[in-house]
Amino acid sequence: HDDVLLAKSISLGRTVTIITLTAMLLAVTFLFAILRKLLIRPIQKLGQAAREVGRGHVLVPIDIDSRDEIGELATTFREMGENLHHYHEQVRYVAYHDNLTGLPNRLMFMDYLNRATTAARREQQGLAVLFLDIDNFKRINDTLGHQTGDKLLEAFADRLSKQLRETDIVSRPTVEDAPNVFARLAGDEFIILLPRTTATSEAEKVARRILKSLSEPFNITMQELHVSTSIGIALYPEDGNTAGDLLKHADIAMYHAKKLGRNNYQYFSKKLNEASAEKLKIENKLRHALENKALELHYQPQVNLVTGQLSGVEALLRWEDPELGKVSPAVFIPIAVEFGLIVQISEWVINEACRQAQQWITAFNFPVIMSINISAVHFNGNSLESMIADALKTSGLNPGNLELEVTETSILQDLNQAGQTLDTFKNMGLQLALDDFGTGYSSLSYLMKLPFDKLKIDQSFIFNLKKDSKGTAIVAAIINLSHSLGMHVIAEGVEQEEHMQMLLQMHCDQVQGYYISRPLTAGQFEEFVRQRNRQSA
Ligand code: C2E
Ligand code: MG
Ligand code: MG
Repeated sequence: HDDVLLAKSISLGRTVTIITLTAMLLAVTFLFAILRKLLIRPIQKLGQAAREVGRGHVLVPIDIDSRDEIGELATTFREMGENLHHYHEQVRYVAYHDNLTGLPNRLMFMDYLNRATTAARREQQGLAVLFLDIDNFKRINDTLGHQTGDKLLEAFADRLSKQLRETDIVSRPTVEDAPNVFARLAGDEFIILLPRTTATSEAEKVARRILKSLSEPFNITMQELHVSTSIGIALYPEDGNTAGDLLKHADIAMYHAKKLGRNNYQYFSKKLNEASAEKLKIENKLRHALENKALELHYQPQVNLVTGQLSGVEALLRWEDPELGKVSPAVFIPIAVEFGLIVQISEWVINEACRQAQQWITAFNFPVIMSINISAVHFNGNSLESMIADALKTSGLNPGNLELEVTETSILQDLNQAGQTLDTFKNMGLQLALDDFGTGYSSLSYLMKLPFDKLKIDQSFIFNLKKDSKGTAIVAAIINLSHSLGMHVIAEGVEQEEHMQMLLQMHCDQVQGYYISRPLTAGQFEEFVRQRNRQSA
């Protein structure tokens, strides 16, 4: 009996021990789990965050939001990170900016230039660097003192920033892949980066604008200071492949500008300097030609393909200079636009074309439409509107007999403005033709919303007309589309009989080109009309 009792109590003892041990084990595991969640993990997280901060990532997220001491520690840690970040930003700002003008400094500029050259290489685009140095700045500094010198630098930076902002240049870029940059290199040296600049005329335009903006004196401490600058231009890829080379070559070009008498701009490459000198020469002579009424209009007939009747004439400018010989309008019109001569030229063309058209209408008694070419600049003001109204009034020409040819590319420069201006012309009763269609890669659907009466298919498409070719299919498609939108179509540059036939089959309305006639002087045109009248009689 005792044995049984003993055995039972031992087994009971074991059970109690097992239960106790299990309970203790559970308690310890549980405690450890709690400890781990509340203490060890957060401390590990903080440790990790500290390591991140040590590596310079000061804004690391820490996901601890308990309300105990650990939570407080995490909050403090976060604040520390934010303060550090703010401090970093300040250091960065100071390191990357010039503290007198607030412009980006050399370091930041080189950073941008490096990135811009890499991007230009990748995207196969060009860019321009303009190096500026204020003329005679040392003399101002020496005679008027450093304080005045500093004030002048500030005012200079300010005026140029404003000027450049109008050409979309950001002087305080914030975005990583910045657009255009205006920076101060050192002393009186400033620099401009124009990324994605493929046309040299863009860099030149900016340079000329800067020089012009300096014609007004600066008012510094009660005195008027007249300041000019010399500008050197280097282009990627022509003048250098790396940021360093571009900067060096823009600098050399700037010295060249100084040597040539200051207050001007020069390219690094000789060829471009020659080109811009040539342009200046043309501009000068063109100005004289305009004053001396040495410009002329020639007229190219436009013919209705179905009836064979004369439907209109396009007025084309001609200029022959005693020294330069015949200069093509394709050459001198862009120069006239660049140098601001185009408004005067257009005024002359409009008046002369209206006068001539009215005279022919009276003389020949036929409803000829006079077509004139209009350049893009006019879309920026309303001078053209009143110019045309005046010319119509003076000549007595009916607005319906005047057609304006506007190129696709000129419309694209400012779609909204162009749309408004075209509406105004339409309301005046003028005919509108879209010139050089197909060369501007524009959105067809947009162009079709503009109030054009006529579409001129560019010569290049006509030259490519061959039986069963892709080019032919494109021309056919343009003609069909225009017709379905209620527009007439005229083909330019028709030189061959075969093309005439093809265009007729495709239902093109009118043709213009050497096959019918080259552009003619007024006298020749009259002869042309008389001869046709004789033939049809
Ligand atoms: P555009 O308006 O496209 O004029 C057509 C050009 O093609 C003219 O050149 C004309 O002589 C030429 N052409 C005509 N038929 C043929 C042909 O069958 N084959 C070939 N290969 N060419 C032909 P042009 O007279 O040298 O004028 C060139 C451009 O200059 C014009 O292109 C126009 O954009 C501009 N332009 C001419 N006169 C004026 C003007 O008074 N004001 C403005 N703003 N621009 C003008
Ligand atoms: Mg034209
Ligand atoms: Mg054309």
